[in-house]
Amino acid sequence: MSTSMNLTLTRLLGKSPAEASNEEIYTALLRLIQEKSARRTADAAGRKLYYISAEFLIGKLLSNNLINLGLYDEVRSVLAEAGKNLSDIEELEPEPSLGNGGLGRLAACFLDSLATLNLPGDGVGLRYHCGLFHQDFKNGVQNESPDYWLTPQSAAEPTDILFPVSLAGKEYSARLYRLPVTGYEGRTNSLNLFDLDSVDESIIGNGISFDKKDIAKNLTLFLYPDDSDDDGQLLRIYQQYFMVSAGAQLILQECASRGCNYHDLADYAAIQINDTHPSMVIPELIRLLELHGIEFEEAVQIVTDTCAYTNHTILAEALEKWPRNFLEQVVPQLMPVIEKLDALARTRTDNEAVAVIDKNDVIHMAHMDIHFTHSTNGVAALHTEILKNSELADFYQLYPEKFNNKTNGITFRRWLLKCNPALADEIESLIGSGFKKDASCLEKLLAFTEDKEVLKKIAEIKKENKKELARWLKAKQGVELNTEAMFSIQSKRLHEYKRQQLNLLFLIHQYFEIKAGHKPSVPLVSIFGAKAAPAYIIAKDIIHALLTLSKVIENDPEVSPWMQLVFVENYNVTAAEKMIPACDLSEQISLASKEASGTGNMKFMLNGALTLGTMDGANVEICEAVGQENIYIFGQSSKQVIHRYAEGDYCAADWYEGDPNLRRAIDFLIGEEMMTYGLKEHLERLHHELISKDWFQTLPDFNAYVVRKQQAMADYAADSSDWTRRALINIAKAGFFSSDRTIEEYNRDIWKLKS
Ligand SMILES: *Cc1c(COP(=O)(O)O)cnc(C)c1O
Repeated sequence: MSTSMNLTLTRLLGKSPAEASNEEIYTALLRLIQEKSARRTADAAGRKLYYISAEFLIGKLLSNNLINLGLYDEVRSVLAEAGKNLSDIEELEPEPSLGNGGLGRLAACFLDSLATLNLPGDGVGLRYHCGLFHQDFKNGVQNESPDYWLTPQSAAEPTDILFPVSLAGKEYSARLYRLPVTGYEGRTNSLNLFDLDSVDESIIGNGISFDKKDIAKNLTLFLYPDDSDDDGQLLRIYQQYFMVSAGAQLILQECASRGCNYHDLADYAAIQINDTHPSMVIPELIRLLELHGIEFEEAVQIVTDTCAYTNHTILAEALEKWPRNFLEQVVPQLMPVIEKLDALARTRTDNEAVAVIDKNDVIHMAHMDIHFTHSTNGVAALHTEILKNSELADFYQLYPEKFNNKTNGITFRRWLLKCNPALADEIESLIGSGFKKDASCLEKLLAFTEDKEVLKKIAEIKKENKKELARWLKAKQGVELNTEAMFSIQSKRLHEYKRQQLNLLFLIHQYFEIKAGHKPSVPLVSIFGAKAAPAYIIAKDIIHALLTLSKVIENDPEVSPWMQLVFVENYNVTAAEKMIPACDLSEQISLASKEASGTGNMKFMLNGALTLGTMDGANVEICEAVGQENIYIFGQSSKQVIHRYAEGDYCAADWYEGDPNLRRAIDFLIGEEMMTYGLKEHLERLHHELISKDWFQTLPDFNAYVVRKQQAMADYAADSSDWTRRALINIAKAGFFSSDRTIEEYNRDIWKLKS
């Protein structure tokens, strides 16, 4: 069998696969992918999308590309015949470090869906040398080091295409790198990444520190460099302008080569601005169009018709705004344009709250986006409603027709076919293969919810995935997981609004219950994965508290049989692919109103976990899809939370004083057990934060969380077949959360591309 694949590999290797090393096979497979994907490229007919984003969290590419090109099974079996294991070869591939969290992963899912749906849509971003950072734990504390993922074989190919970019009056040259994006049985698009030849990794000193002023050497070293000082903020502006200026020049060049005369740019290009980081593409395009002889008013109209903006958050600190003098310093060429845009916006309204440049000479990027693009979308139904009714209400009054919702989605190729092949095979044997391209077909699984044989098989797959995660973690971190336990997983960026601290307080509460002789209904393994921004002190304190609690539990023989706390180092796509298929209970416990959508919630659901969550982001839509009886909802509603913020009457100390269980859990942080293993300064700071501020209202949701989680554990213990039945309903109802559906909606309402 597979003789032609055997011949192909032998040709690429110059020897038989059996004689080749894993490294040689890896290189040969990259060449194979290049050859096959090059055949699927095609020029856009009509409009082409450019998705500009500071992040693309794409994950390892080898297996995903093989799956999407229809080569995976053949390659795997040829290699197996030669005594090689494809997953060993995949281990050699470093995960591209081009993203941070959900926003970057969304961009990656969108690229997959665009190519799968045969839509012409490229990504535009930066080629970071060390990406975010590599996380490990030393003495219970997060330690950051550079993530050197660029190897000689790294998949992004340099081109000879260069664009001049002026930064603080100095000329630089942006080089374009291209990474092919293969669709599942679809076309090949491109991820266009810009870099500067002079960037120099050797300037990185201790940890991830470097000279923030040496732009020629530091520009693309890291994603989101520390911005806790002015030099760091300036560096972010340098990066953003470099990305959008090179991107805008690429877009204009490509459109011109297809016959665009710039007046008709909107017929050739659609530009999606992913969050505020690429906002400067608006004034930059206007500036470039003016250089081509187009008058300001017309240029504004062209850019408005071409660009659309996605809002990803209502957290004030994430809606970027820059002091005028920062932009004057880095991008003086943009200032005349931005000033004219501010003046133009002021002719449309006298509401100072929507100004582009406010009274304090601060420039609001999101405001510029909303005034000068034709579409502003939120990323889940609740989020869009909050934008319209509170956060961006002034803008909604001004431009009601611009606002629309596009609930996020995930690509099922990576988050089912690749990460959970056993489940994908089982689904295929039950309902055929249609779900791979039409996710709504998953509903056919509802016919099997009473089929004991099917439920048994699904439960076995979950068990096997738990064992696989255990093996992986043992090899990686040396911990042994109790695979008989229920697995609860909270994996996502570390942020107070996501409330890992609520999970922490629950675990402390469980600890006390077990010590008091109240054994839980089932042993619980609580797994965390999360990076904290290097300058985010409280987030790092929460990591420290979790790591310390993990030691307390481990060293207490009364408690350790019943609970285990494991923190997976360096949470990334590779880790997510191992963790998500092994999960029983998906922790989505953000403070209602604060998580714009979430996409982790969708991945867990698709892989047969039940959700324990607040009515926040896309959890609301998951709840509607599966029904109250197949999800564990708790906590304050977004209305209550928004009301509390408006009243400004939340007082953490009242909750702490008024609830003995809560008080006991919080005080444990600074008690003897924690101090035995942990660091006083970190634990005291977290304790103080929780009782004096608790900006994300952890304490009011504590009791409801404890009750719901204990209910979930009891249900799991009582009837495992019924648990699996409910998990199957979650899988069956996950179809709506395919990014293919999301992309079809963007295309129908905003981009209008032709396949
Ligand atoms: C999906 C994903 C996220 C986003 O998770 P949320 O729970 O939606 O915040 C973050 N990191 C990685 C590696 C992911 O795969």
